[in-house]
Amino acid sequence: MSLPAPGLPHTRPCLSIWQRSTRHNALLNEGRASDLPPTADAIVIGSGISGALTALELLSSPNGPKNVVMLEAREAVSGATGRNAGHCRPDAFRGFSAFSKRINPEQAMKIIVHEKLVLQLLKAFIKKHNIDCDFDYCRTFDVVMGKEFLDYVTGSFEAYKQAGGDTSDITCLNILAGYSRSTCTRGLRMDSRQFAPCQTVPVGSTTCQVARPVAFHPHTPVTSVTSSGNANDEWVVNTPRGSISTPIVVHATNAFAATLIPCLKSQVRPVRAQAHKLIPTAPFTGRNILSHTYSLRFSLSHFYSVIQRKGDGAIVLGTSRGVPGIGQEIFETKDDSVVNKTIQEDCLANFKQVFSDWGDEVLGEGHEFGWTGILGLTKDAVPFIGPVPSLPGQFVIAGFNGHGMARIFGSAPGLAQIILGGKWSDTTMPECFQITTERLERLSALP
Ligand SMILES: Cc1cc2nc3c(=O)[nH]c(=O)nc-3n(C[C@H](O)[C@H](O)[C@H](O)COP(=O)(O)OP(=O)(O)OC[C@H]3O[C@@H](n4cnc5c(N)ncnc54)[C@H](O)[C@@H]3O)c2cc1C
Repeated sequence: MSLPAPGLPHTRPCLSIWQRSTRHNALLNEGRASDLPPTADAIVIGSGISGALTALELLSSPNGPKNVVMLEAREAVSGATGRNAGHCRPDAFRGFSAFSKRINPEQAMKIIVHEKLVLQLLKAFIKKHNIDCDFDYCRTFDVVMGKEFLDYVTGSFEAYKQAGGDTSDITCLNILAGYSRSTCTRGLRMDSRQFAPCQTVPVGSTTCQVARPVAFHPHTPVTSVTSSGNANDEWVVNTPRGSISTPIVVHATNAFAATLIPCLKSQVRPVRAQAHKLIPTAPFTGRNILSHTYSLRFSLSHFYSVIQRKGDGAIVLGTSRGVPGIGQEIFETKDDSVVNKTIQEDCLANFKQVFSDWGDEVLGEGHEFGWTGILGLTKDAVPFIGPVPSLPGQFVIAGFNGHGMARIFGSAPGLAQIILGGKWSDTTMPECFQITTERLERLSALP
């Protein structure tokens, strides 16, 4: 069967650091053997953090749907959520200039305020549900790696301050020459207190708790959503395992949203991201473990993220789509079964240049493996959330531009409120996240 681009997720994806530790978890494939019900009060398509949180919010609401079915094309949490680099890293001010230009200064400020709120929501969520996960609430640094980013970030900081942005959680430090670890931690542009990585919340622990009340069906790709033709406006969600009728469909398919939602064609585009696990050398062990996390930045789209896990000392090194020499091979692809060796070599070289006390590796230290996942990019770098225009009863939460960890904990509860009849102004989300016909038309004129 031929579906509109980008089609369905790749059927044999590689495994991320998080997924390698959860192969014992029955929930990954739970529901696979059971029949689909003929009807549901609501259907959530996609089991990433967007789908799981929206489902949880719907089920937790006293006036919400009781019978929520979640359909996932692959294993549980096998999309970007289960493959990310583990950073829930709200923007301190960096994106202010870029979003002011792309959207407007008011929305740029709302985006930053929302991201700061999301970290607090995530922290509260972990506490409330008593989730056993690696959550390390610590400082993080943007390391300025060159003049292009220095000029940009200096301007953005000034613009953010002038617009009345809160700078109390930001410390600007002088740039020092050289990139040894000691200069690195001192020689940074900013120190964003309280901006933390949570070593994702993904695969096992959170999803077990979040997905538990949902009737979850992995390995059940949705191939179309069609009208039932009934007067009560029900939708029929079709899969190779059968069809389900429902009045509410939530598309939480991120990079794959355009497959089932025609108006998102060319509006949400897949791009492959890559990350790596490193076993630390002796200078990065024990008391010398990195106490902060980092984004080593050459530009807005060319950077490397570094976190060292407190649990086992492993380093997760994330890469970006701006790596020099990387061309079309990572764009418009849904293949997360492979890693790109050029990106791997480039990120290791940059990491070792900055953390120059890494030293020689003995057997067993250094790069262990890499993995990839598919991001959903939008032309204005913010997600599409809300009722899908002209398709009453269908809702979308997708297009997180590789930054979903800093947005979804505010967005999914907001979408659930809207599904249950709330207004956008009742939510914490910036208005620019809303999917509207006007926004779609405006963006369709852009390349
Ligand atoms: C390598 C990598 C590193 C990253 N690092 C970070 C980071 O450090 N910080 C950060 O904030 N973000 C990061 N991200 C991005 C972040 O992971 C995403 O923004 C976020 O997880 C998106 O969550 P989601 O639930 O919207 O989408 P996903 O987690 O992608 O979930 C979508 C789900 O829908 C399923 N699906 C798709 N089509 C269908 C269909 N037709 N039928 C049924 N199911 C379907 C998919 O299989 C998938 O499970 C990274 C991503 C990657 C890949």
